[in-house]
Amino acid sequence: MSNFKNFFTKITNKIKSLYKNSSNIIGIDLGTANTLICTPEKGIILNEASTISYITENGINSGYLYGTKAKELIGKTPFKIEVINPVDDGVVSYSNLTEDMVRKFLSTVIKENMLFQPIIICGVPFSATDVEKKALQEILERCNAKEALLVYESIASAVGANLQIDKPIGSLIIDIGGGTTEISVISLGGIIKNRTFKYGGRKIDKSIIEFIEHKYKLLIGENTAEEIKKQISCVYLKQDEEPKKMLIHGRNLKTNVPQEIVIDQNDLVYALAEFTNILVDNLNQILQSTQPELMKDIIKNGVTICGGGAKIGNLDYVIEKTTGLKSTIPNNPELCLINGLQKIISNYKQYNYLLFKQI
Ligand code: ADP
Ligand code: MG
Repeated sequence: MSNFKNFFTKITNKIKSLYKNSSNIIGIDLGTANTLICTPEKGIILNEASTISYITENGINSGYLYGTKAKELIGKTPFKIEVINPVDDGVVSYSNLTEDMVRKFLSTVIKENMLFQPIIICGVPFSATDVEKKALQEILERCNAKEALLVYESIASAVGANLQIDKPIGSLIIDIGGGTTEISVISLGGIIKNRTFKYGGRKIDKSIIEFIEHKYKLLIGENTAEEIKKQISCVYLKQDEEPKKMLIHGRNLKTNVPQEIVIDQNDLVYALAEFTNILVDNLNQILQSTQPELMKDIIKNGVTICGGGAKIGNLDYVIEKTTGLKSTIPNNPELCLINGLQKIISNYKQYNYLLFKQI
């Protein structure tokens, strides 16, 4: 009898400890380029590329890879590799594959706690249609969520960047992600104005590939283009600035042999010119149509730039020069959204008015 009692106590304690350690609320940033997951207690518990790939050897699918491992394979295998980015332009393009990816990511971070169905809070672009929002919500519900709630990404990013979103004060936030760039004017926890255009990190990588192909007759891969962008991307060179150089490898398009060349930041200014123009144009349009009361706050507080693309060299300088507005890039701008989600789920009562369900 006492054995049974011991056994029973052990089981109860195990369940209690599981329950105590379980995160019954989690935040997800399901981006075009990267997926991040956070809990209130542990902060960021996953940061992976939003990529699925599989190698086909003699036409046989040798199994799926998910996340950063899947992305690193691109251009590095002798076999034919299929790469899928299931989240395109910030919204779910391939519902089944997105579900597989989210399920895989969730299972790697909350193995035992999956016993307890979590409430999942997920960011969604303001530009997503109702059907797209509903599709995302349903994917999360199918991934064992007790409840799936959405929050606009610009708002959660503003929370992550410590902007005062709960007051009648206008804030301007730019989010440069992998697929899109989203510009939002926020006040009192709502989005007053938004302009989203389909030009983000991936299209910038393509512009770099095209520019190098055109100028140097050198073919480079997607991951190389992204590396160039991360190391020396730049939208403007100030007078006293010495352009940084970088040695790159590719295949000469005339001779078909591998070749190394040195490029410098002037090349990047050219390759990024189209993106810079479109960004400044959209920014000016949003500023011209913003109510004078909110403009007063924006002039005072300036622009906040977040998302991975905020790290493009001298982008803040160009925005300041073209709009006259002070530009701020928070530390780790690519983490603004997940940091905001963590704040929201940690202070659920304070922030739950920002969350919604798509019906
Ligand atoms: P998403 O939310 O769409 O997943 P992120 O905010 O995570 O996108 O940003 C990813 C994009 O930021 C990628 O295109 C990546 O190449 C780009 N990026 C990351 N670091 C840098 C950098 N240092 N300079 C320029 N772009 C960068
Ligand atoms: Mg994003």
